[in-house]
Amino acid sequence: MEFNVGVIKGDGIGPEVVTEAVKVLDAIAAKFNHKFNYTDILMGGCSIDATGVPLTDEAIEAAKASDAVLLGSIGGNTATSPWYKLEPGLRPEAGLLKLRKSLNLFANLRPANLYAELKEACPLREDIIGGGFDMMIMRELTGGLYFGERSTVEEDGQLVARDSLTYSENEIRRIAKRGFDIAMKRRKKVTSVDKANVLDSSRLWRKIVEEVAKDYPEVEYEHMLVDNCAMQLVKNPGQFDVILTENMFGDILSDEASMVTGSIGMLASASLNDTRFGLYEPSGGSAPDIAGKGIANPIATILSAAMMLRFSFDLDREADAIEASVKKVLQLGYRTIDIMPRDGSVVTEVGTSKMGDLIIENL
Ligand code: NAD
Repeated sequence: MEFNVGVIKGDGIGPEVVTEAVKVLDAIAAKFNHKFNYTDILMGGCSIDATGVPLTDEAIEAAKASDAVLLGSIGGNTATSPWYKLEPGLRPEAGLLKLRKSLNLFANLRPANLYAELKEACPLREDIIGGGFDMMIMRELTGGLYFGERSTVEEDGQLVARDSLTYSENEIRRIAKRGFDIAMKRRKKVTSVDKANVLDSSRLWRKIVEEVAKDYPEVEYEHMLVDNCAMQLVKNPGQFDVILTENMFGDILSDEASMVTGSIGMLASASLNDTRFGLYEPSGGSAPDIAGKGIANPIATILSAAMMLRFSFDLDREADAIEASVKKVLQLGYRTIDIMPRDGSVVTEVGTSKMGDLIIENL
């Protein structure tokens, strides 16, 4: 099959890690007889340097014309980079926000899984981790508290601030469907997280999720209050498959879930709209402190490319191959600097490019 992939290398370690992910995609293309056509797209600091703005209209059009976009990361050192002397709307991050909005990306997916080989990096006790965990946090990205009306006004001699939390049936239905679709590709369990004992928006969330669940009889689902979910994530993370939740709860829970996995360099992510299109990127930033040194961990970006194969191109076998290879390379004892064990176990430290090569060799 043939697919058009927009490639945004971005800033900092972005170009280094994206180069490895593209190398892996090319190896997959050769092994499974596909063709990936790449279009380089400028975004972030590198776009500011070249065009004066973090994202041009041409870049947005190029992204829209792609079947999916693979992104490294954007931004620089926020204390020292001249990009941060520009007004907020012209800074690197404004490009990413504009791209997400232009592409109507409403569903954010963040897997949090613990590799047995990296158990030592997990801050939870061995008896809690048990056989490890492998969950997917599905967060609604364009509604809720972060996008509601807000105001700060003086009332009776004091300042009063208000933020409103709004969700419509349609917004809930489209993310719930996505969540159940993703569960069908996994272990077929959805935990829908809300605060239905207090919030009207959560009661509507629950009602719509129940309606959507009727179309997925194979998927087991449950409701969980967000405060309980925050506790369960550190008490028994192995119970979760897909966690489906609204914007702010997802923001907090996805960071909590990623912390319990140990390393930022391993965490992939995806943002989807209601077509097959997706934007795939590592969860971490541009790591200016290690950029250009050839030591960044490319695994998060390589796993993001695997998510692209699975969720935008329906190439599950190919995505499985990449994920299995990552596991194998870890089993063989290869580590980038960020995932080096602290307990003295003997492993082989490798740089960015070598890690990419090893993942290709073990495909
Ligand atoms: P960061 O994630 O870039 O770095 C935090 C720490 O994690 C650093 O010590 C870094 O070296 C390490 N790290 C991150 N990714 C790594 C990898 N793949 N391999 C090894 N180590 C890795 O966060 P930050 O320092 O707060 O932000 C730096 C810049 O990135 C800022 O300009 C920020 O705005 C931007 N940022 C961009 C995105 C994005 O593009 N989506 C996301 C977050 C931050």
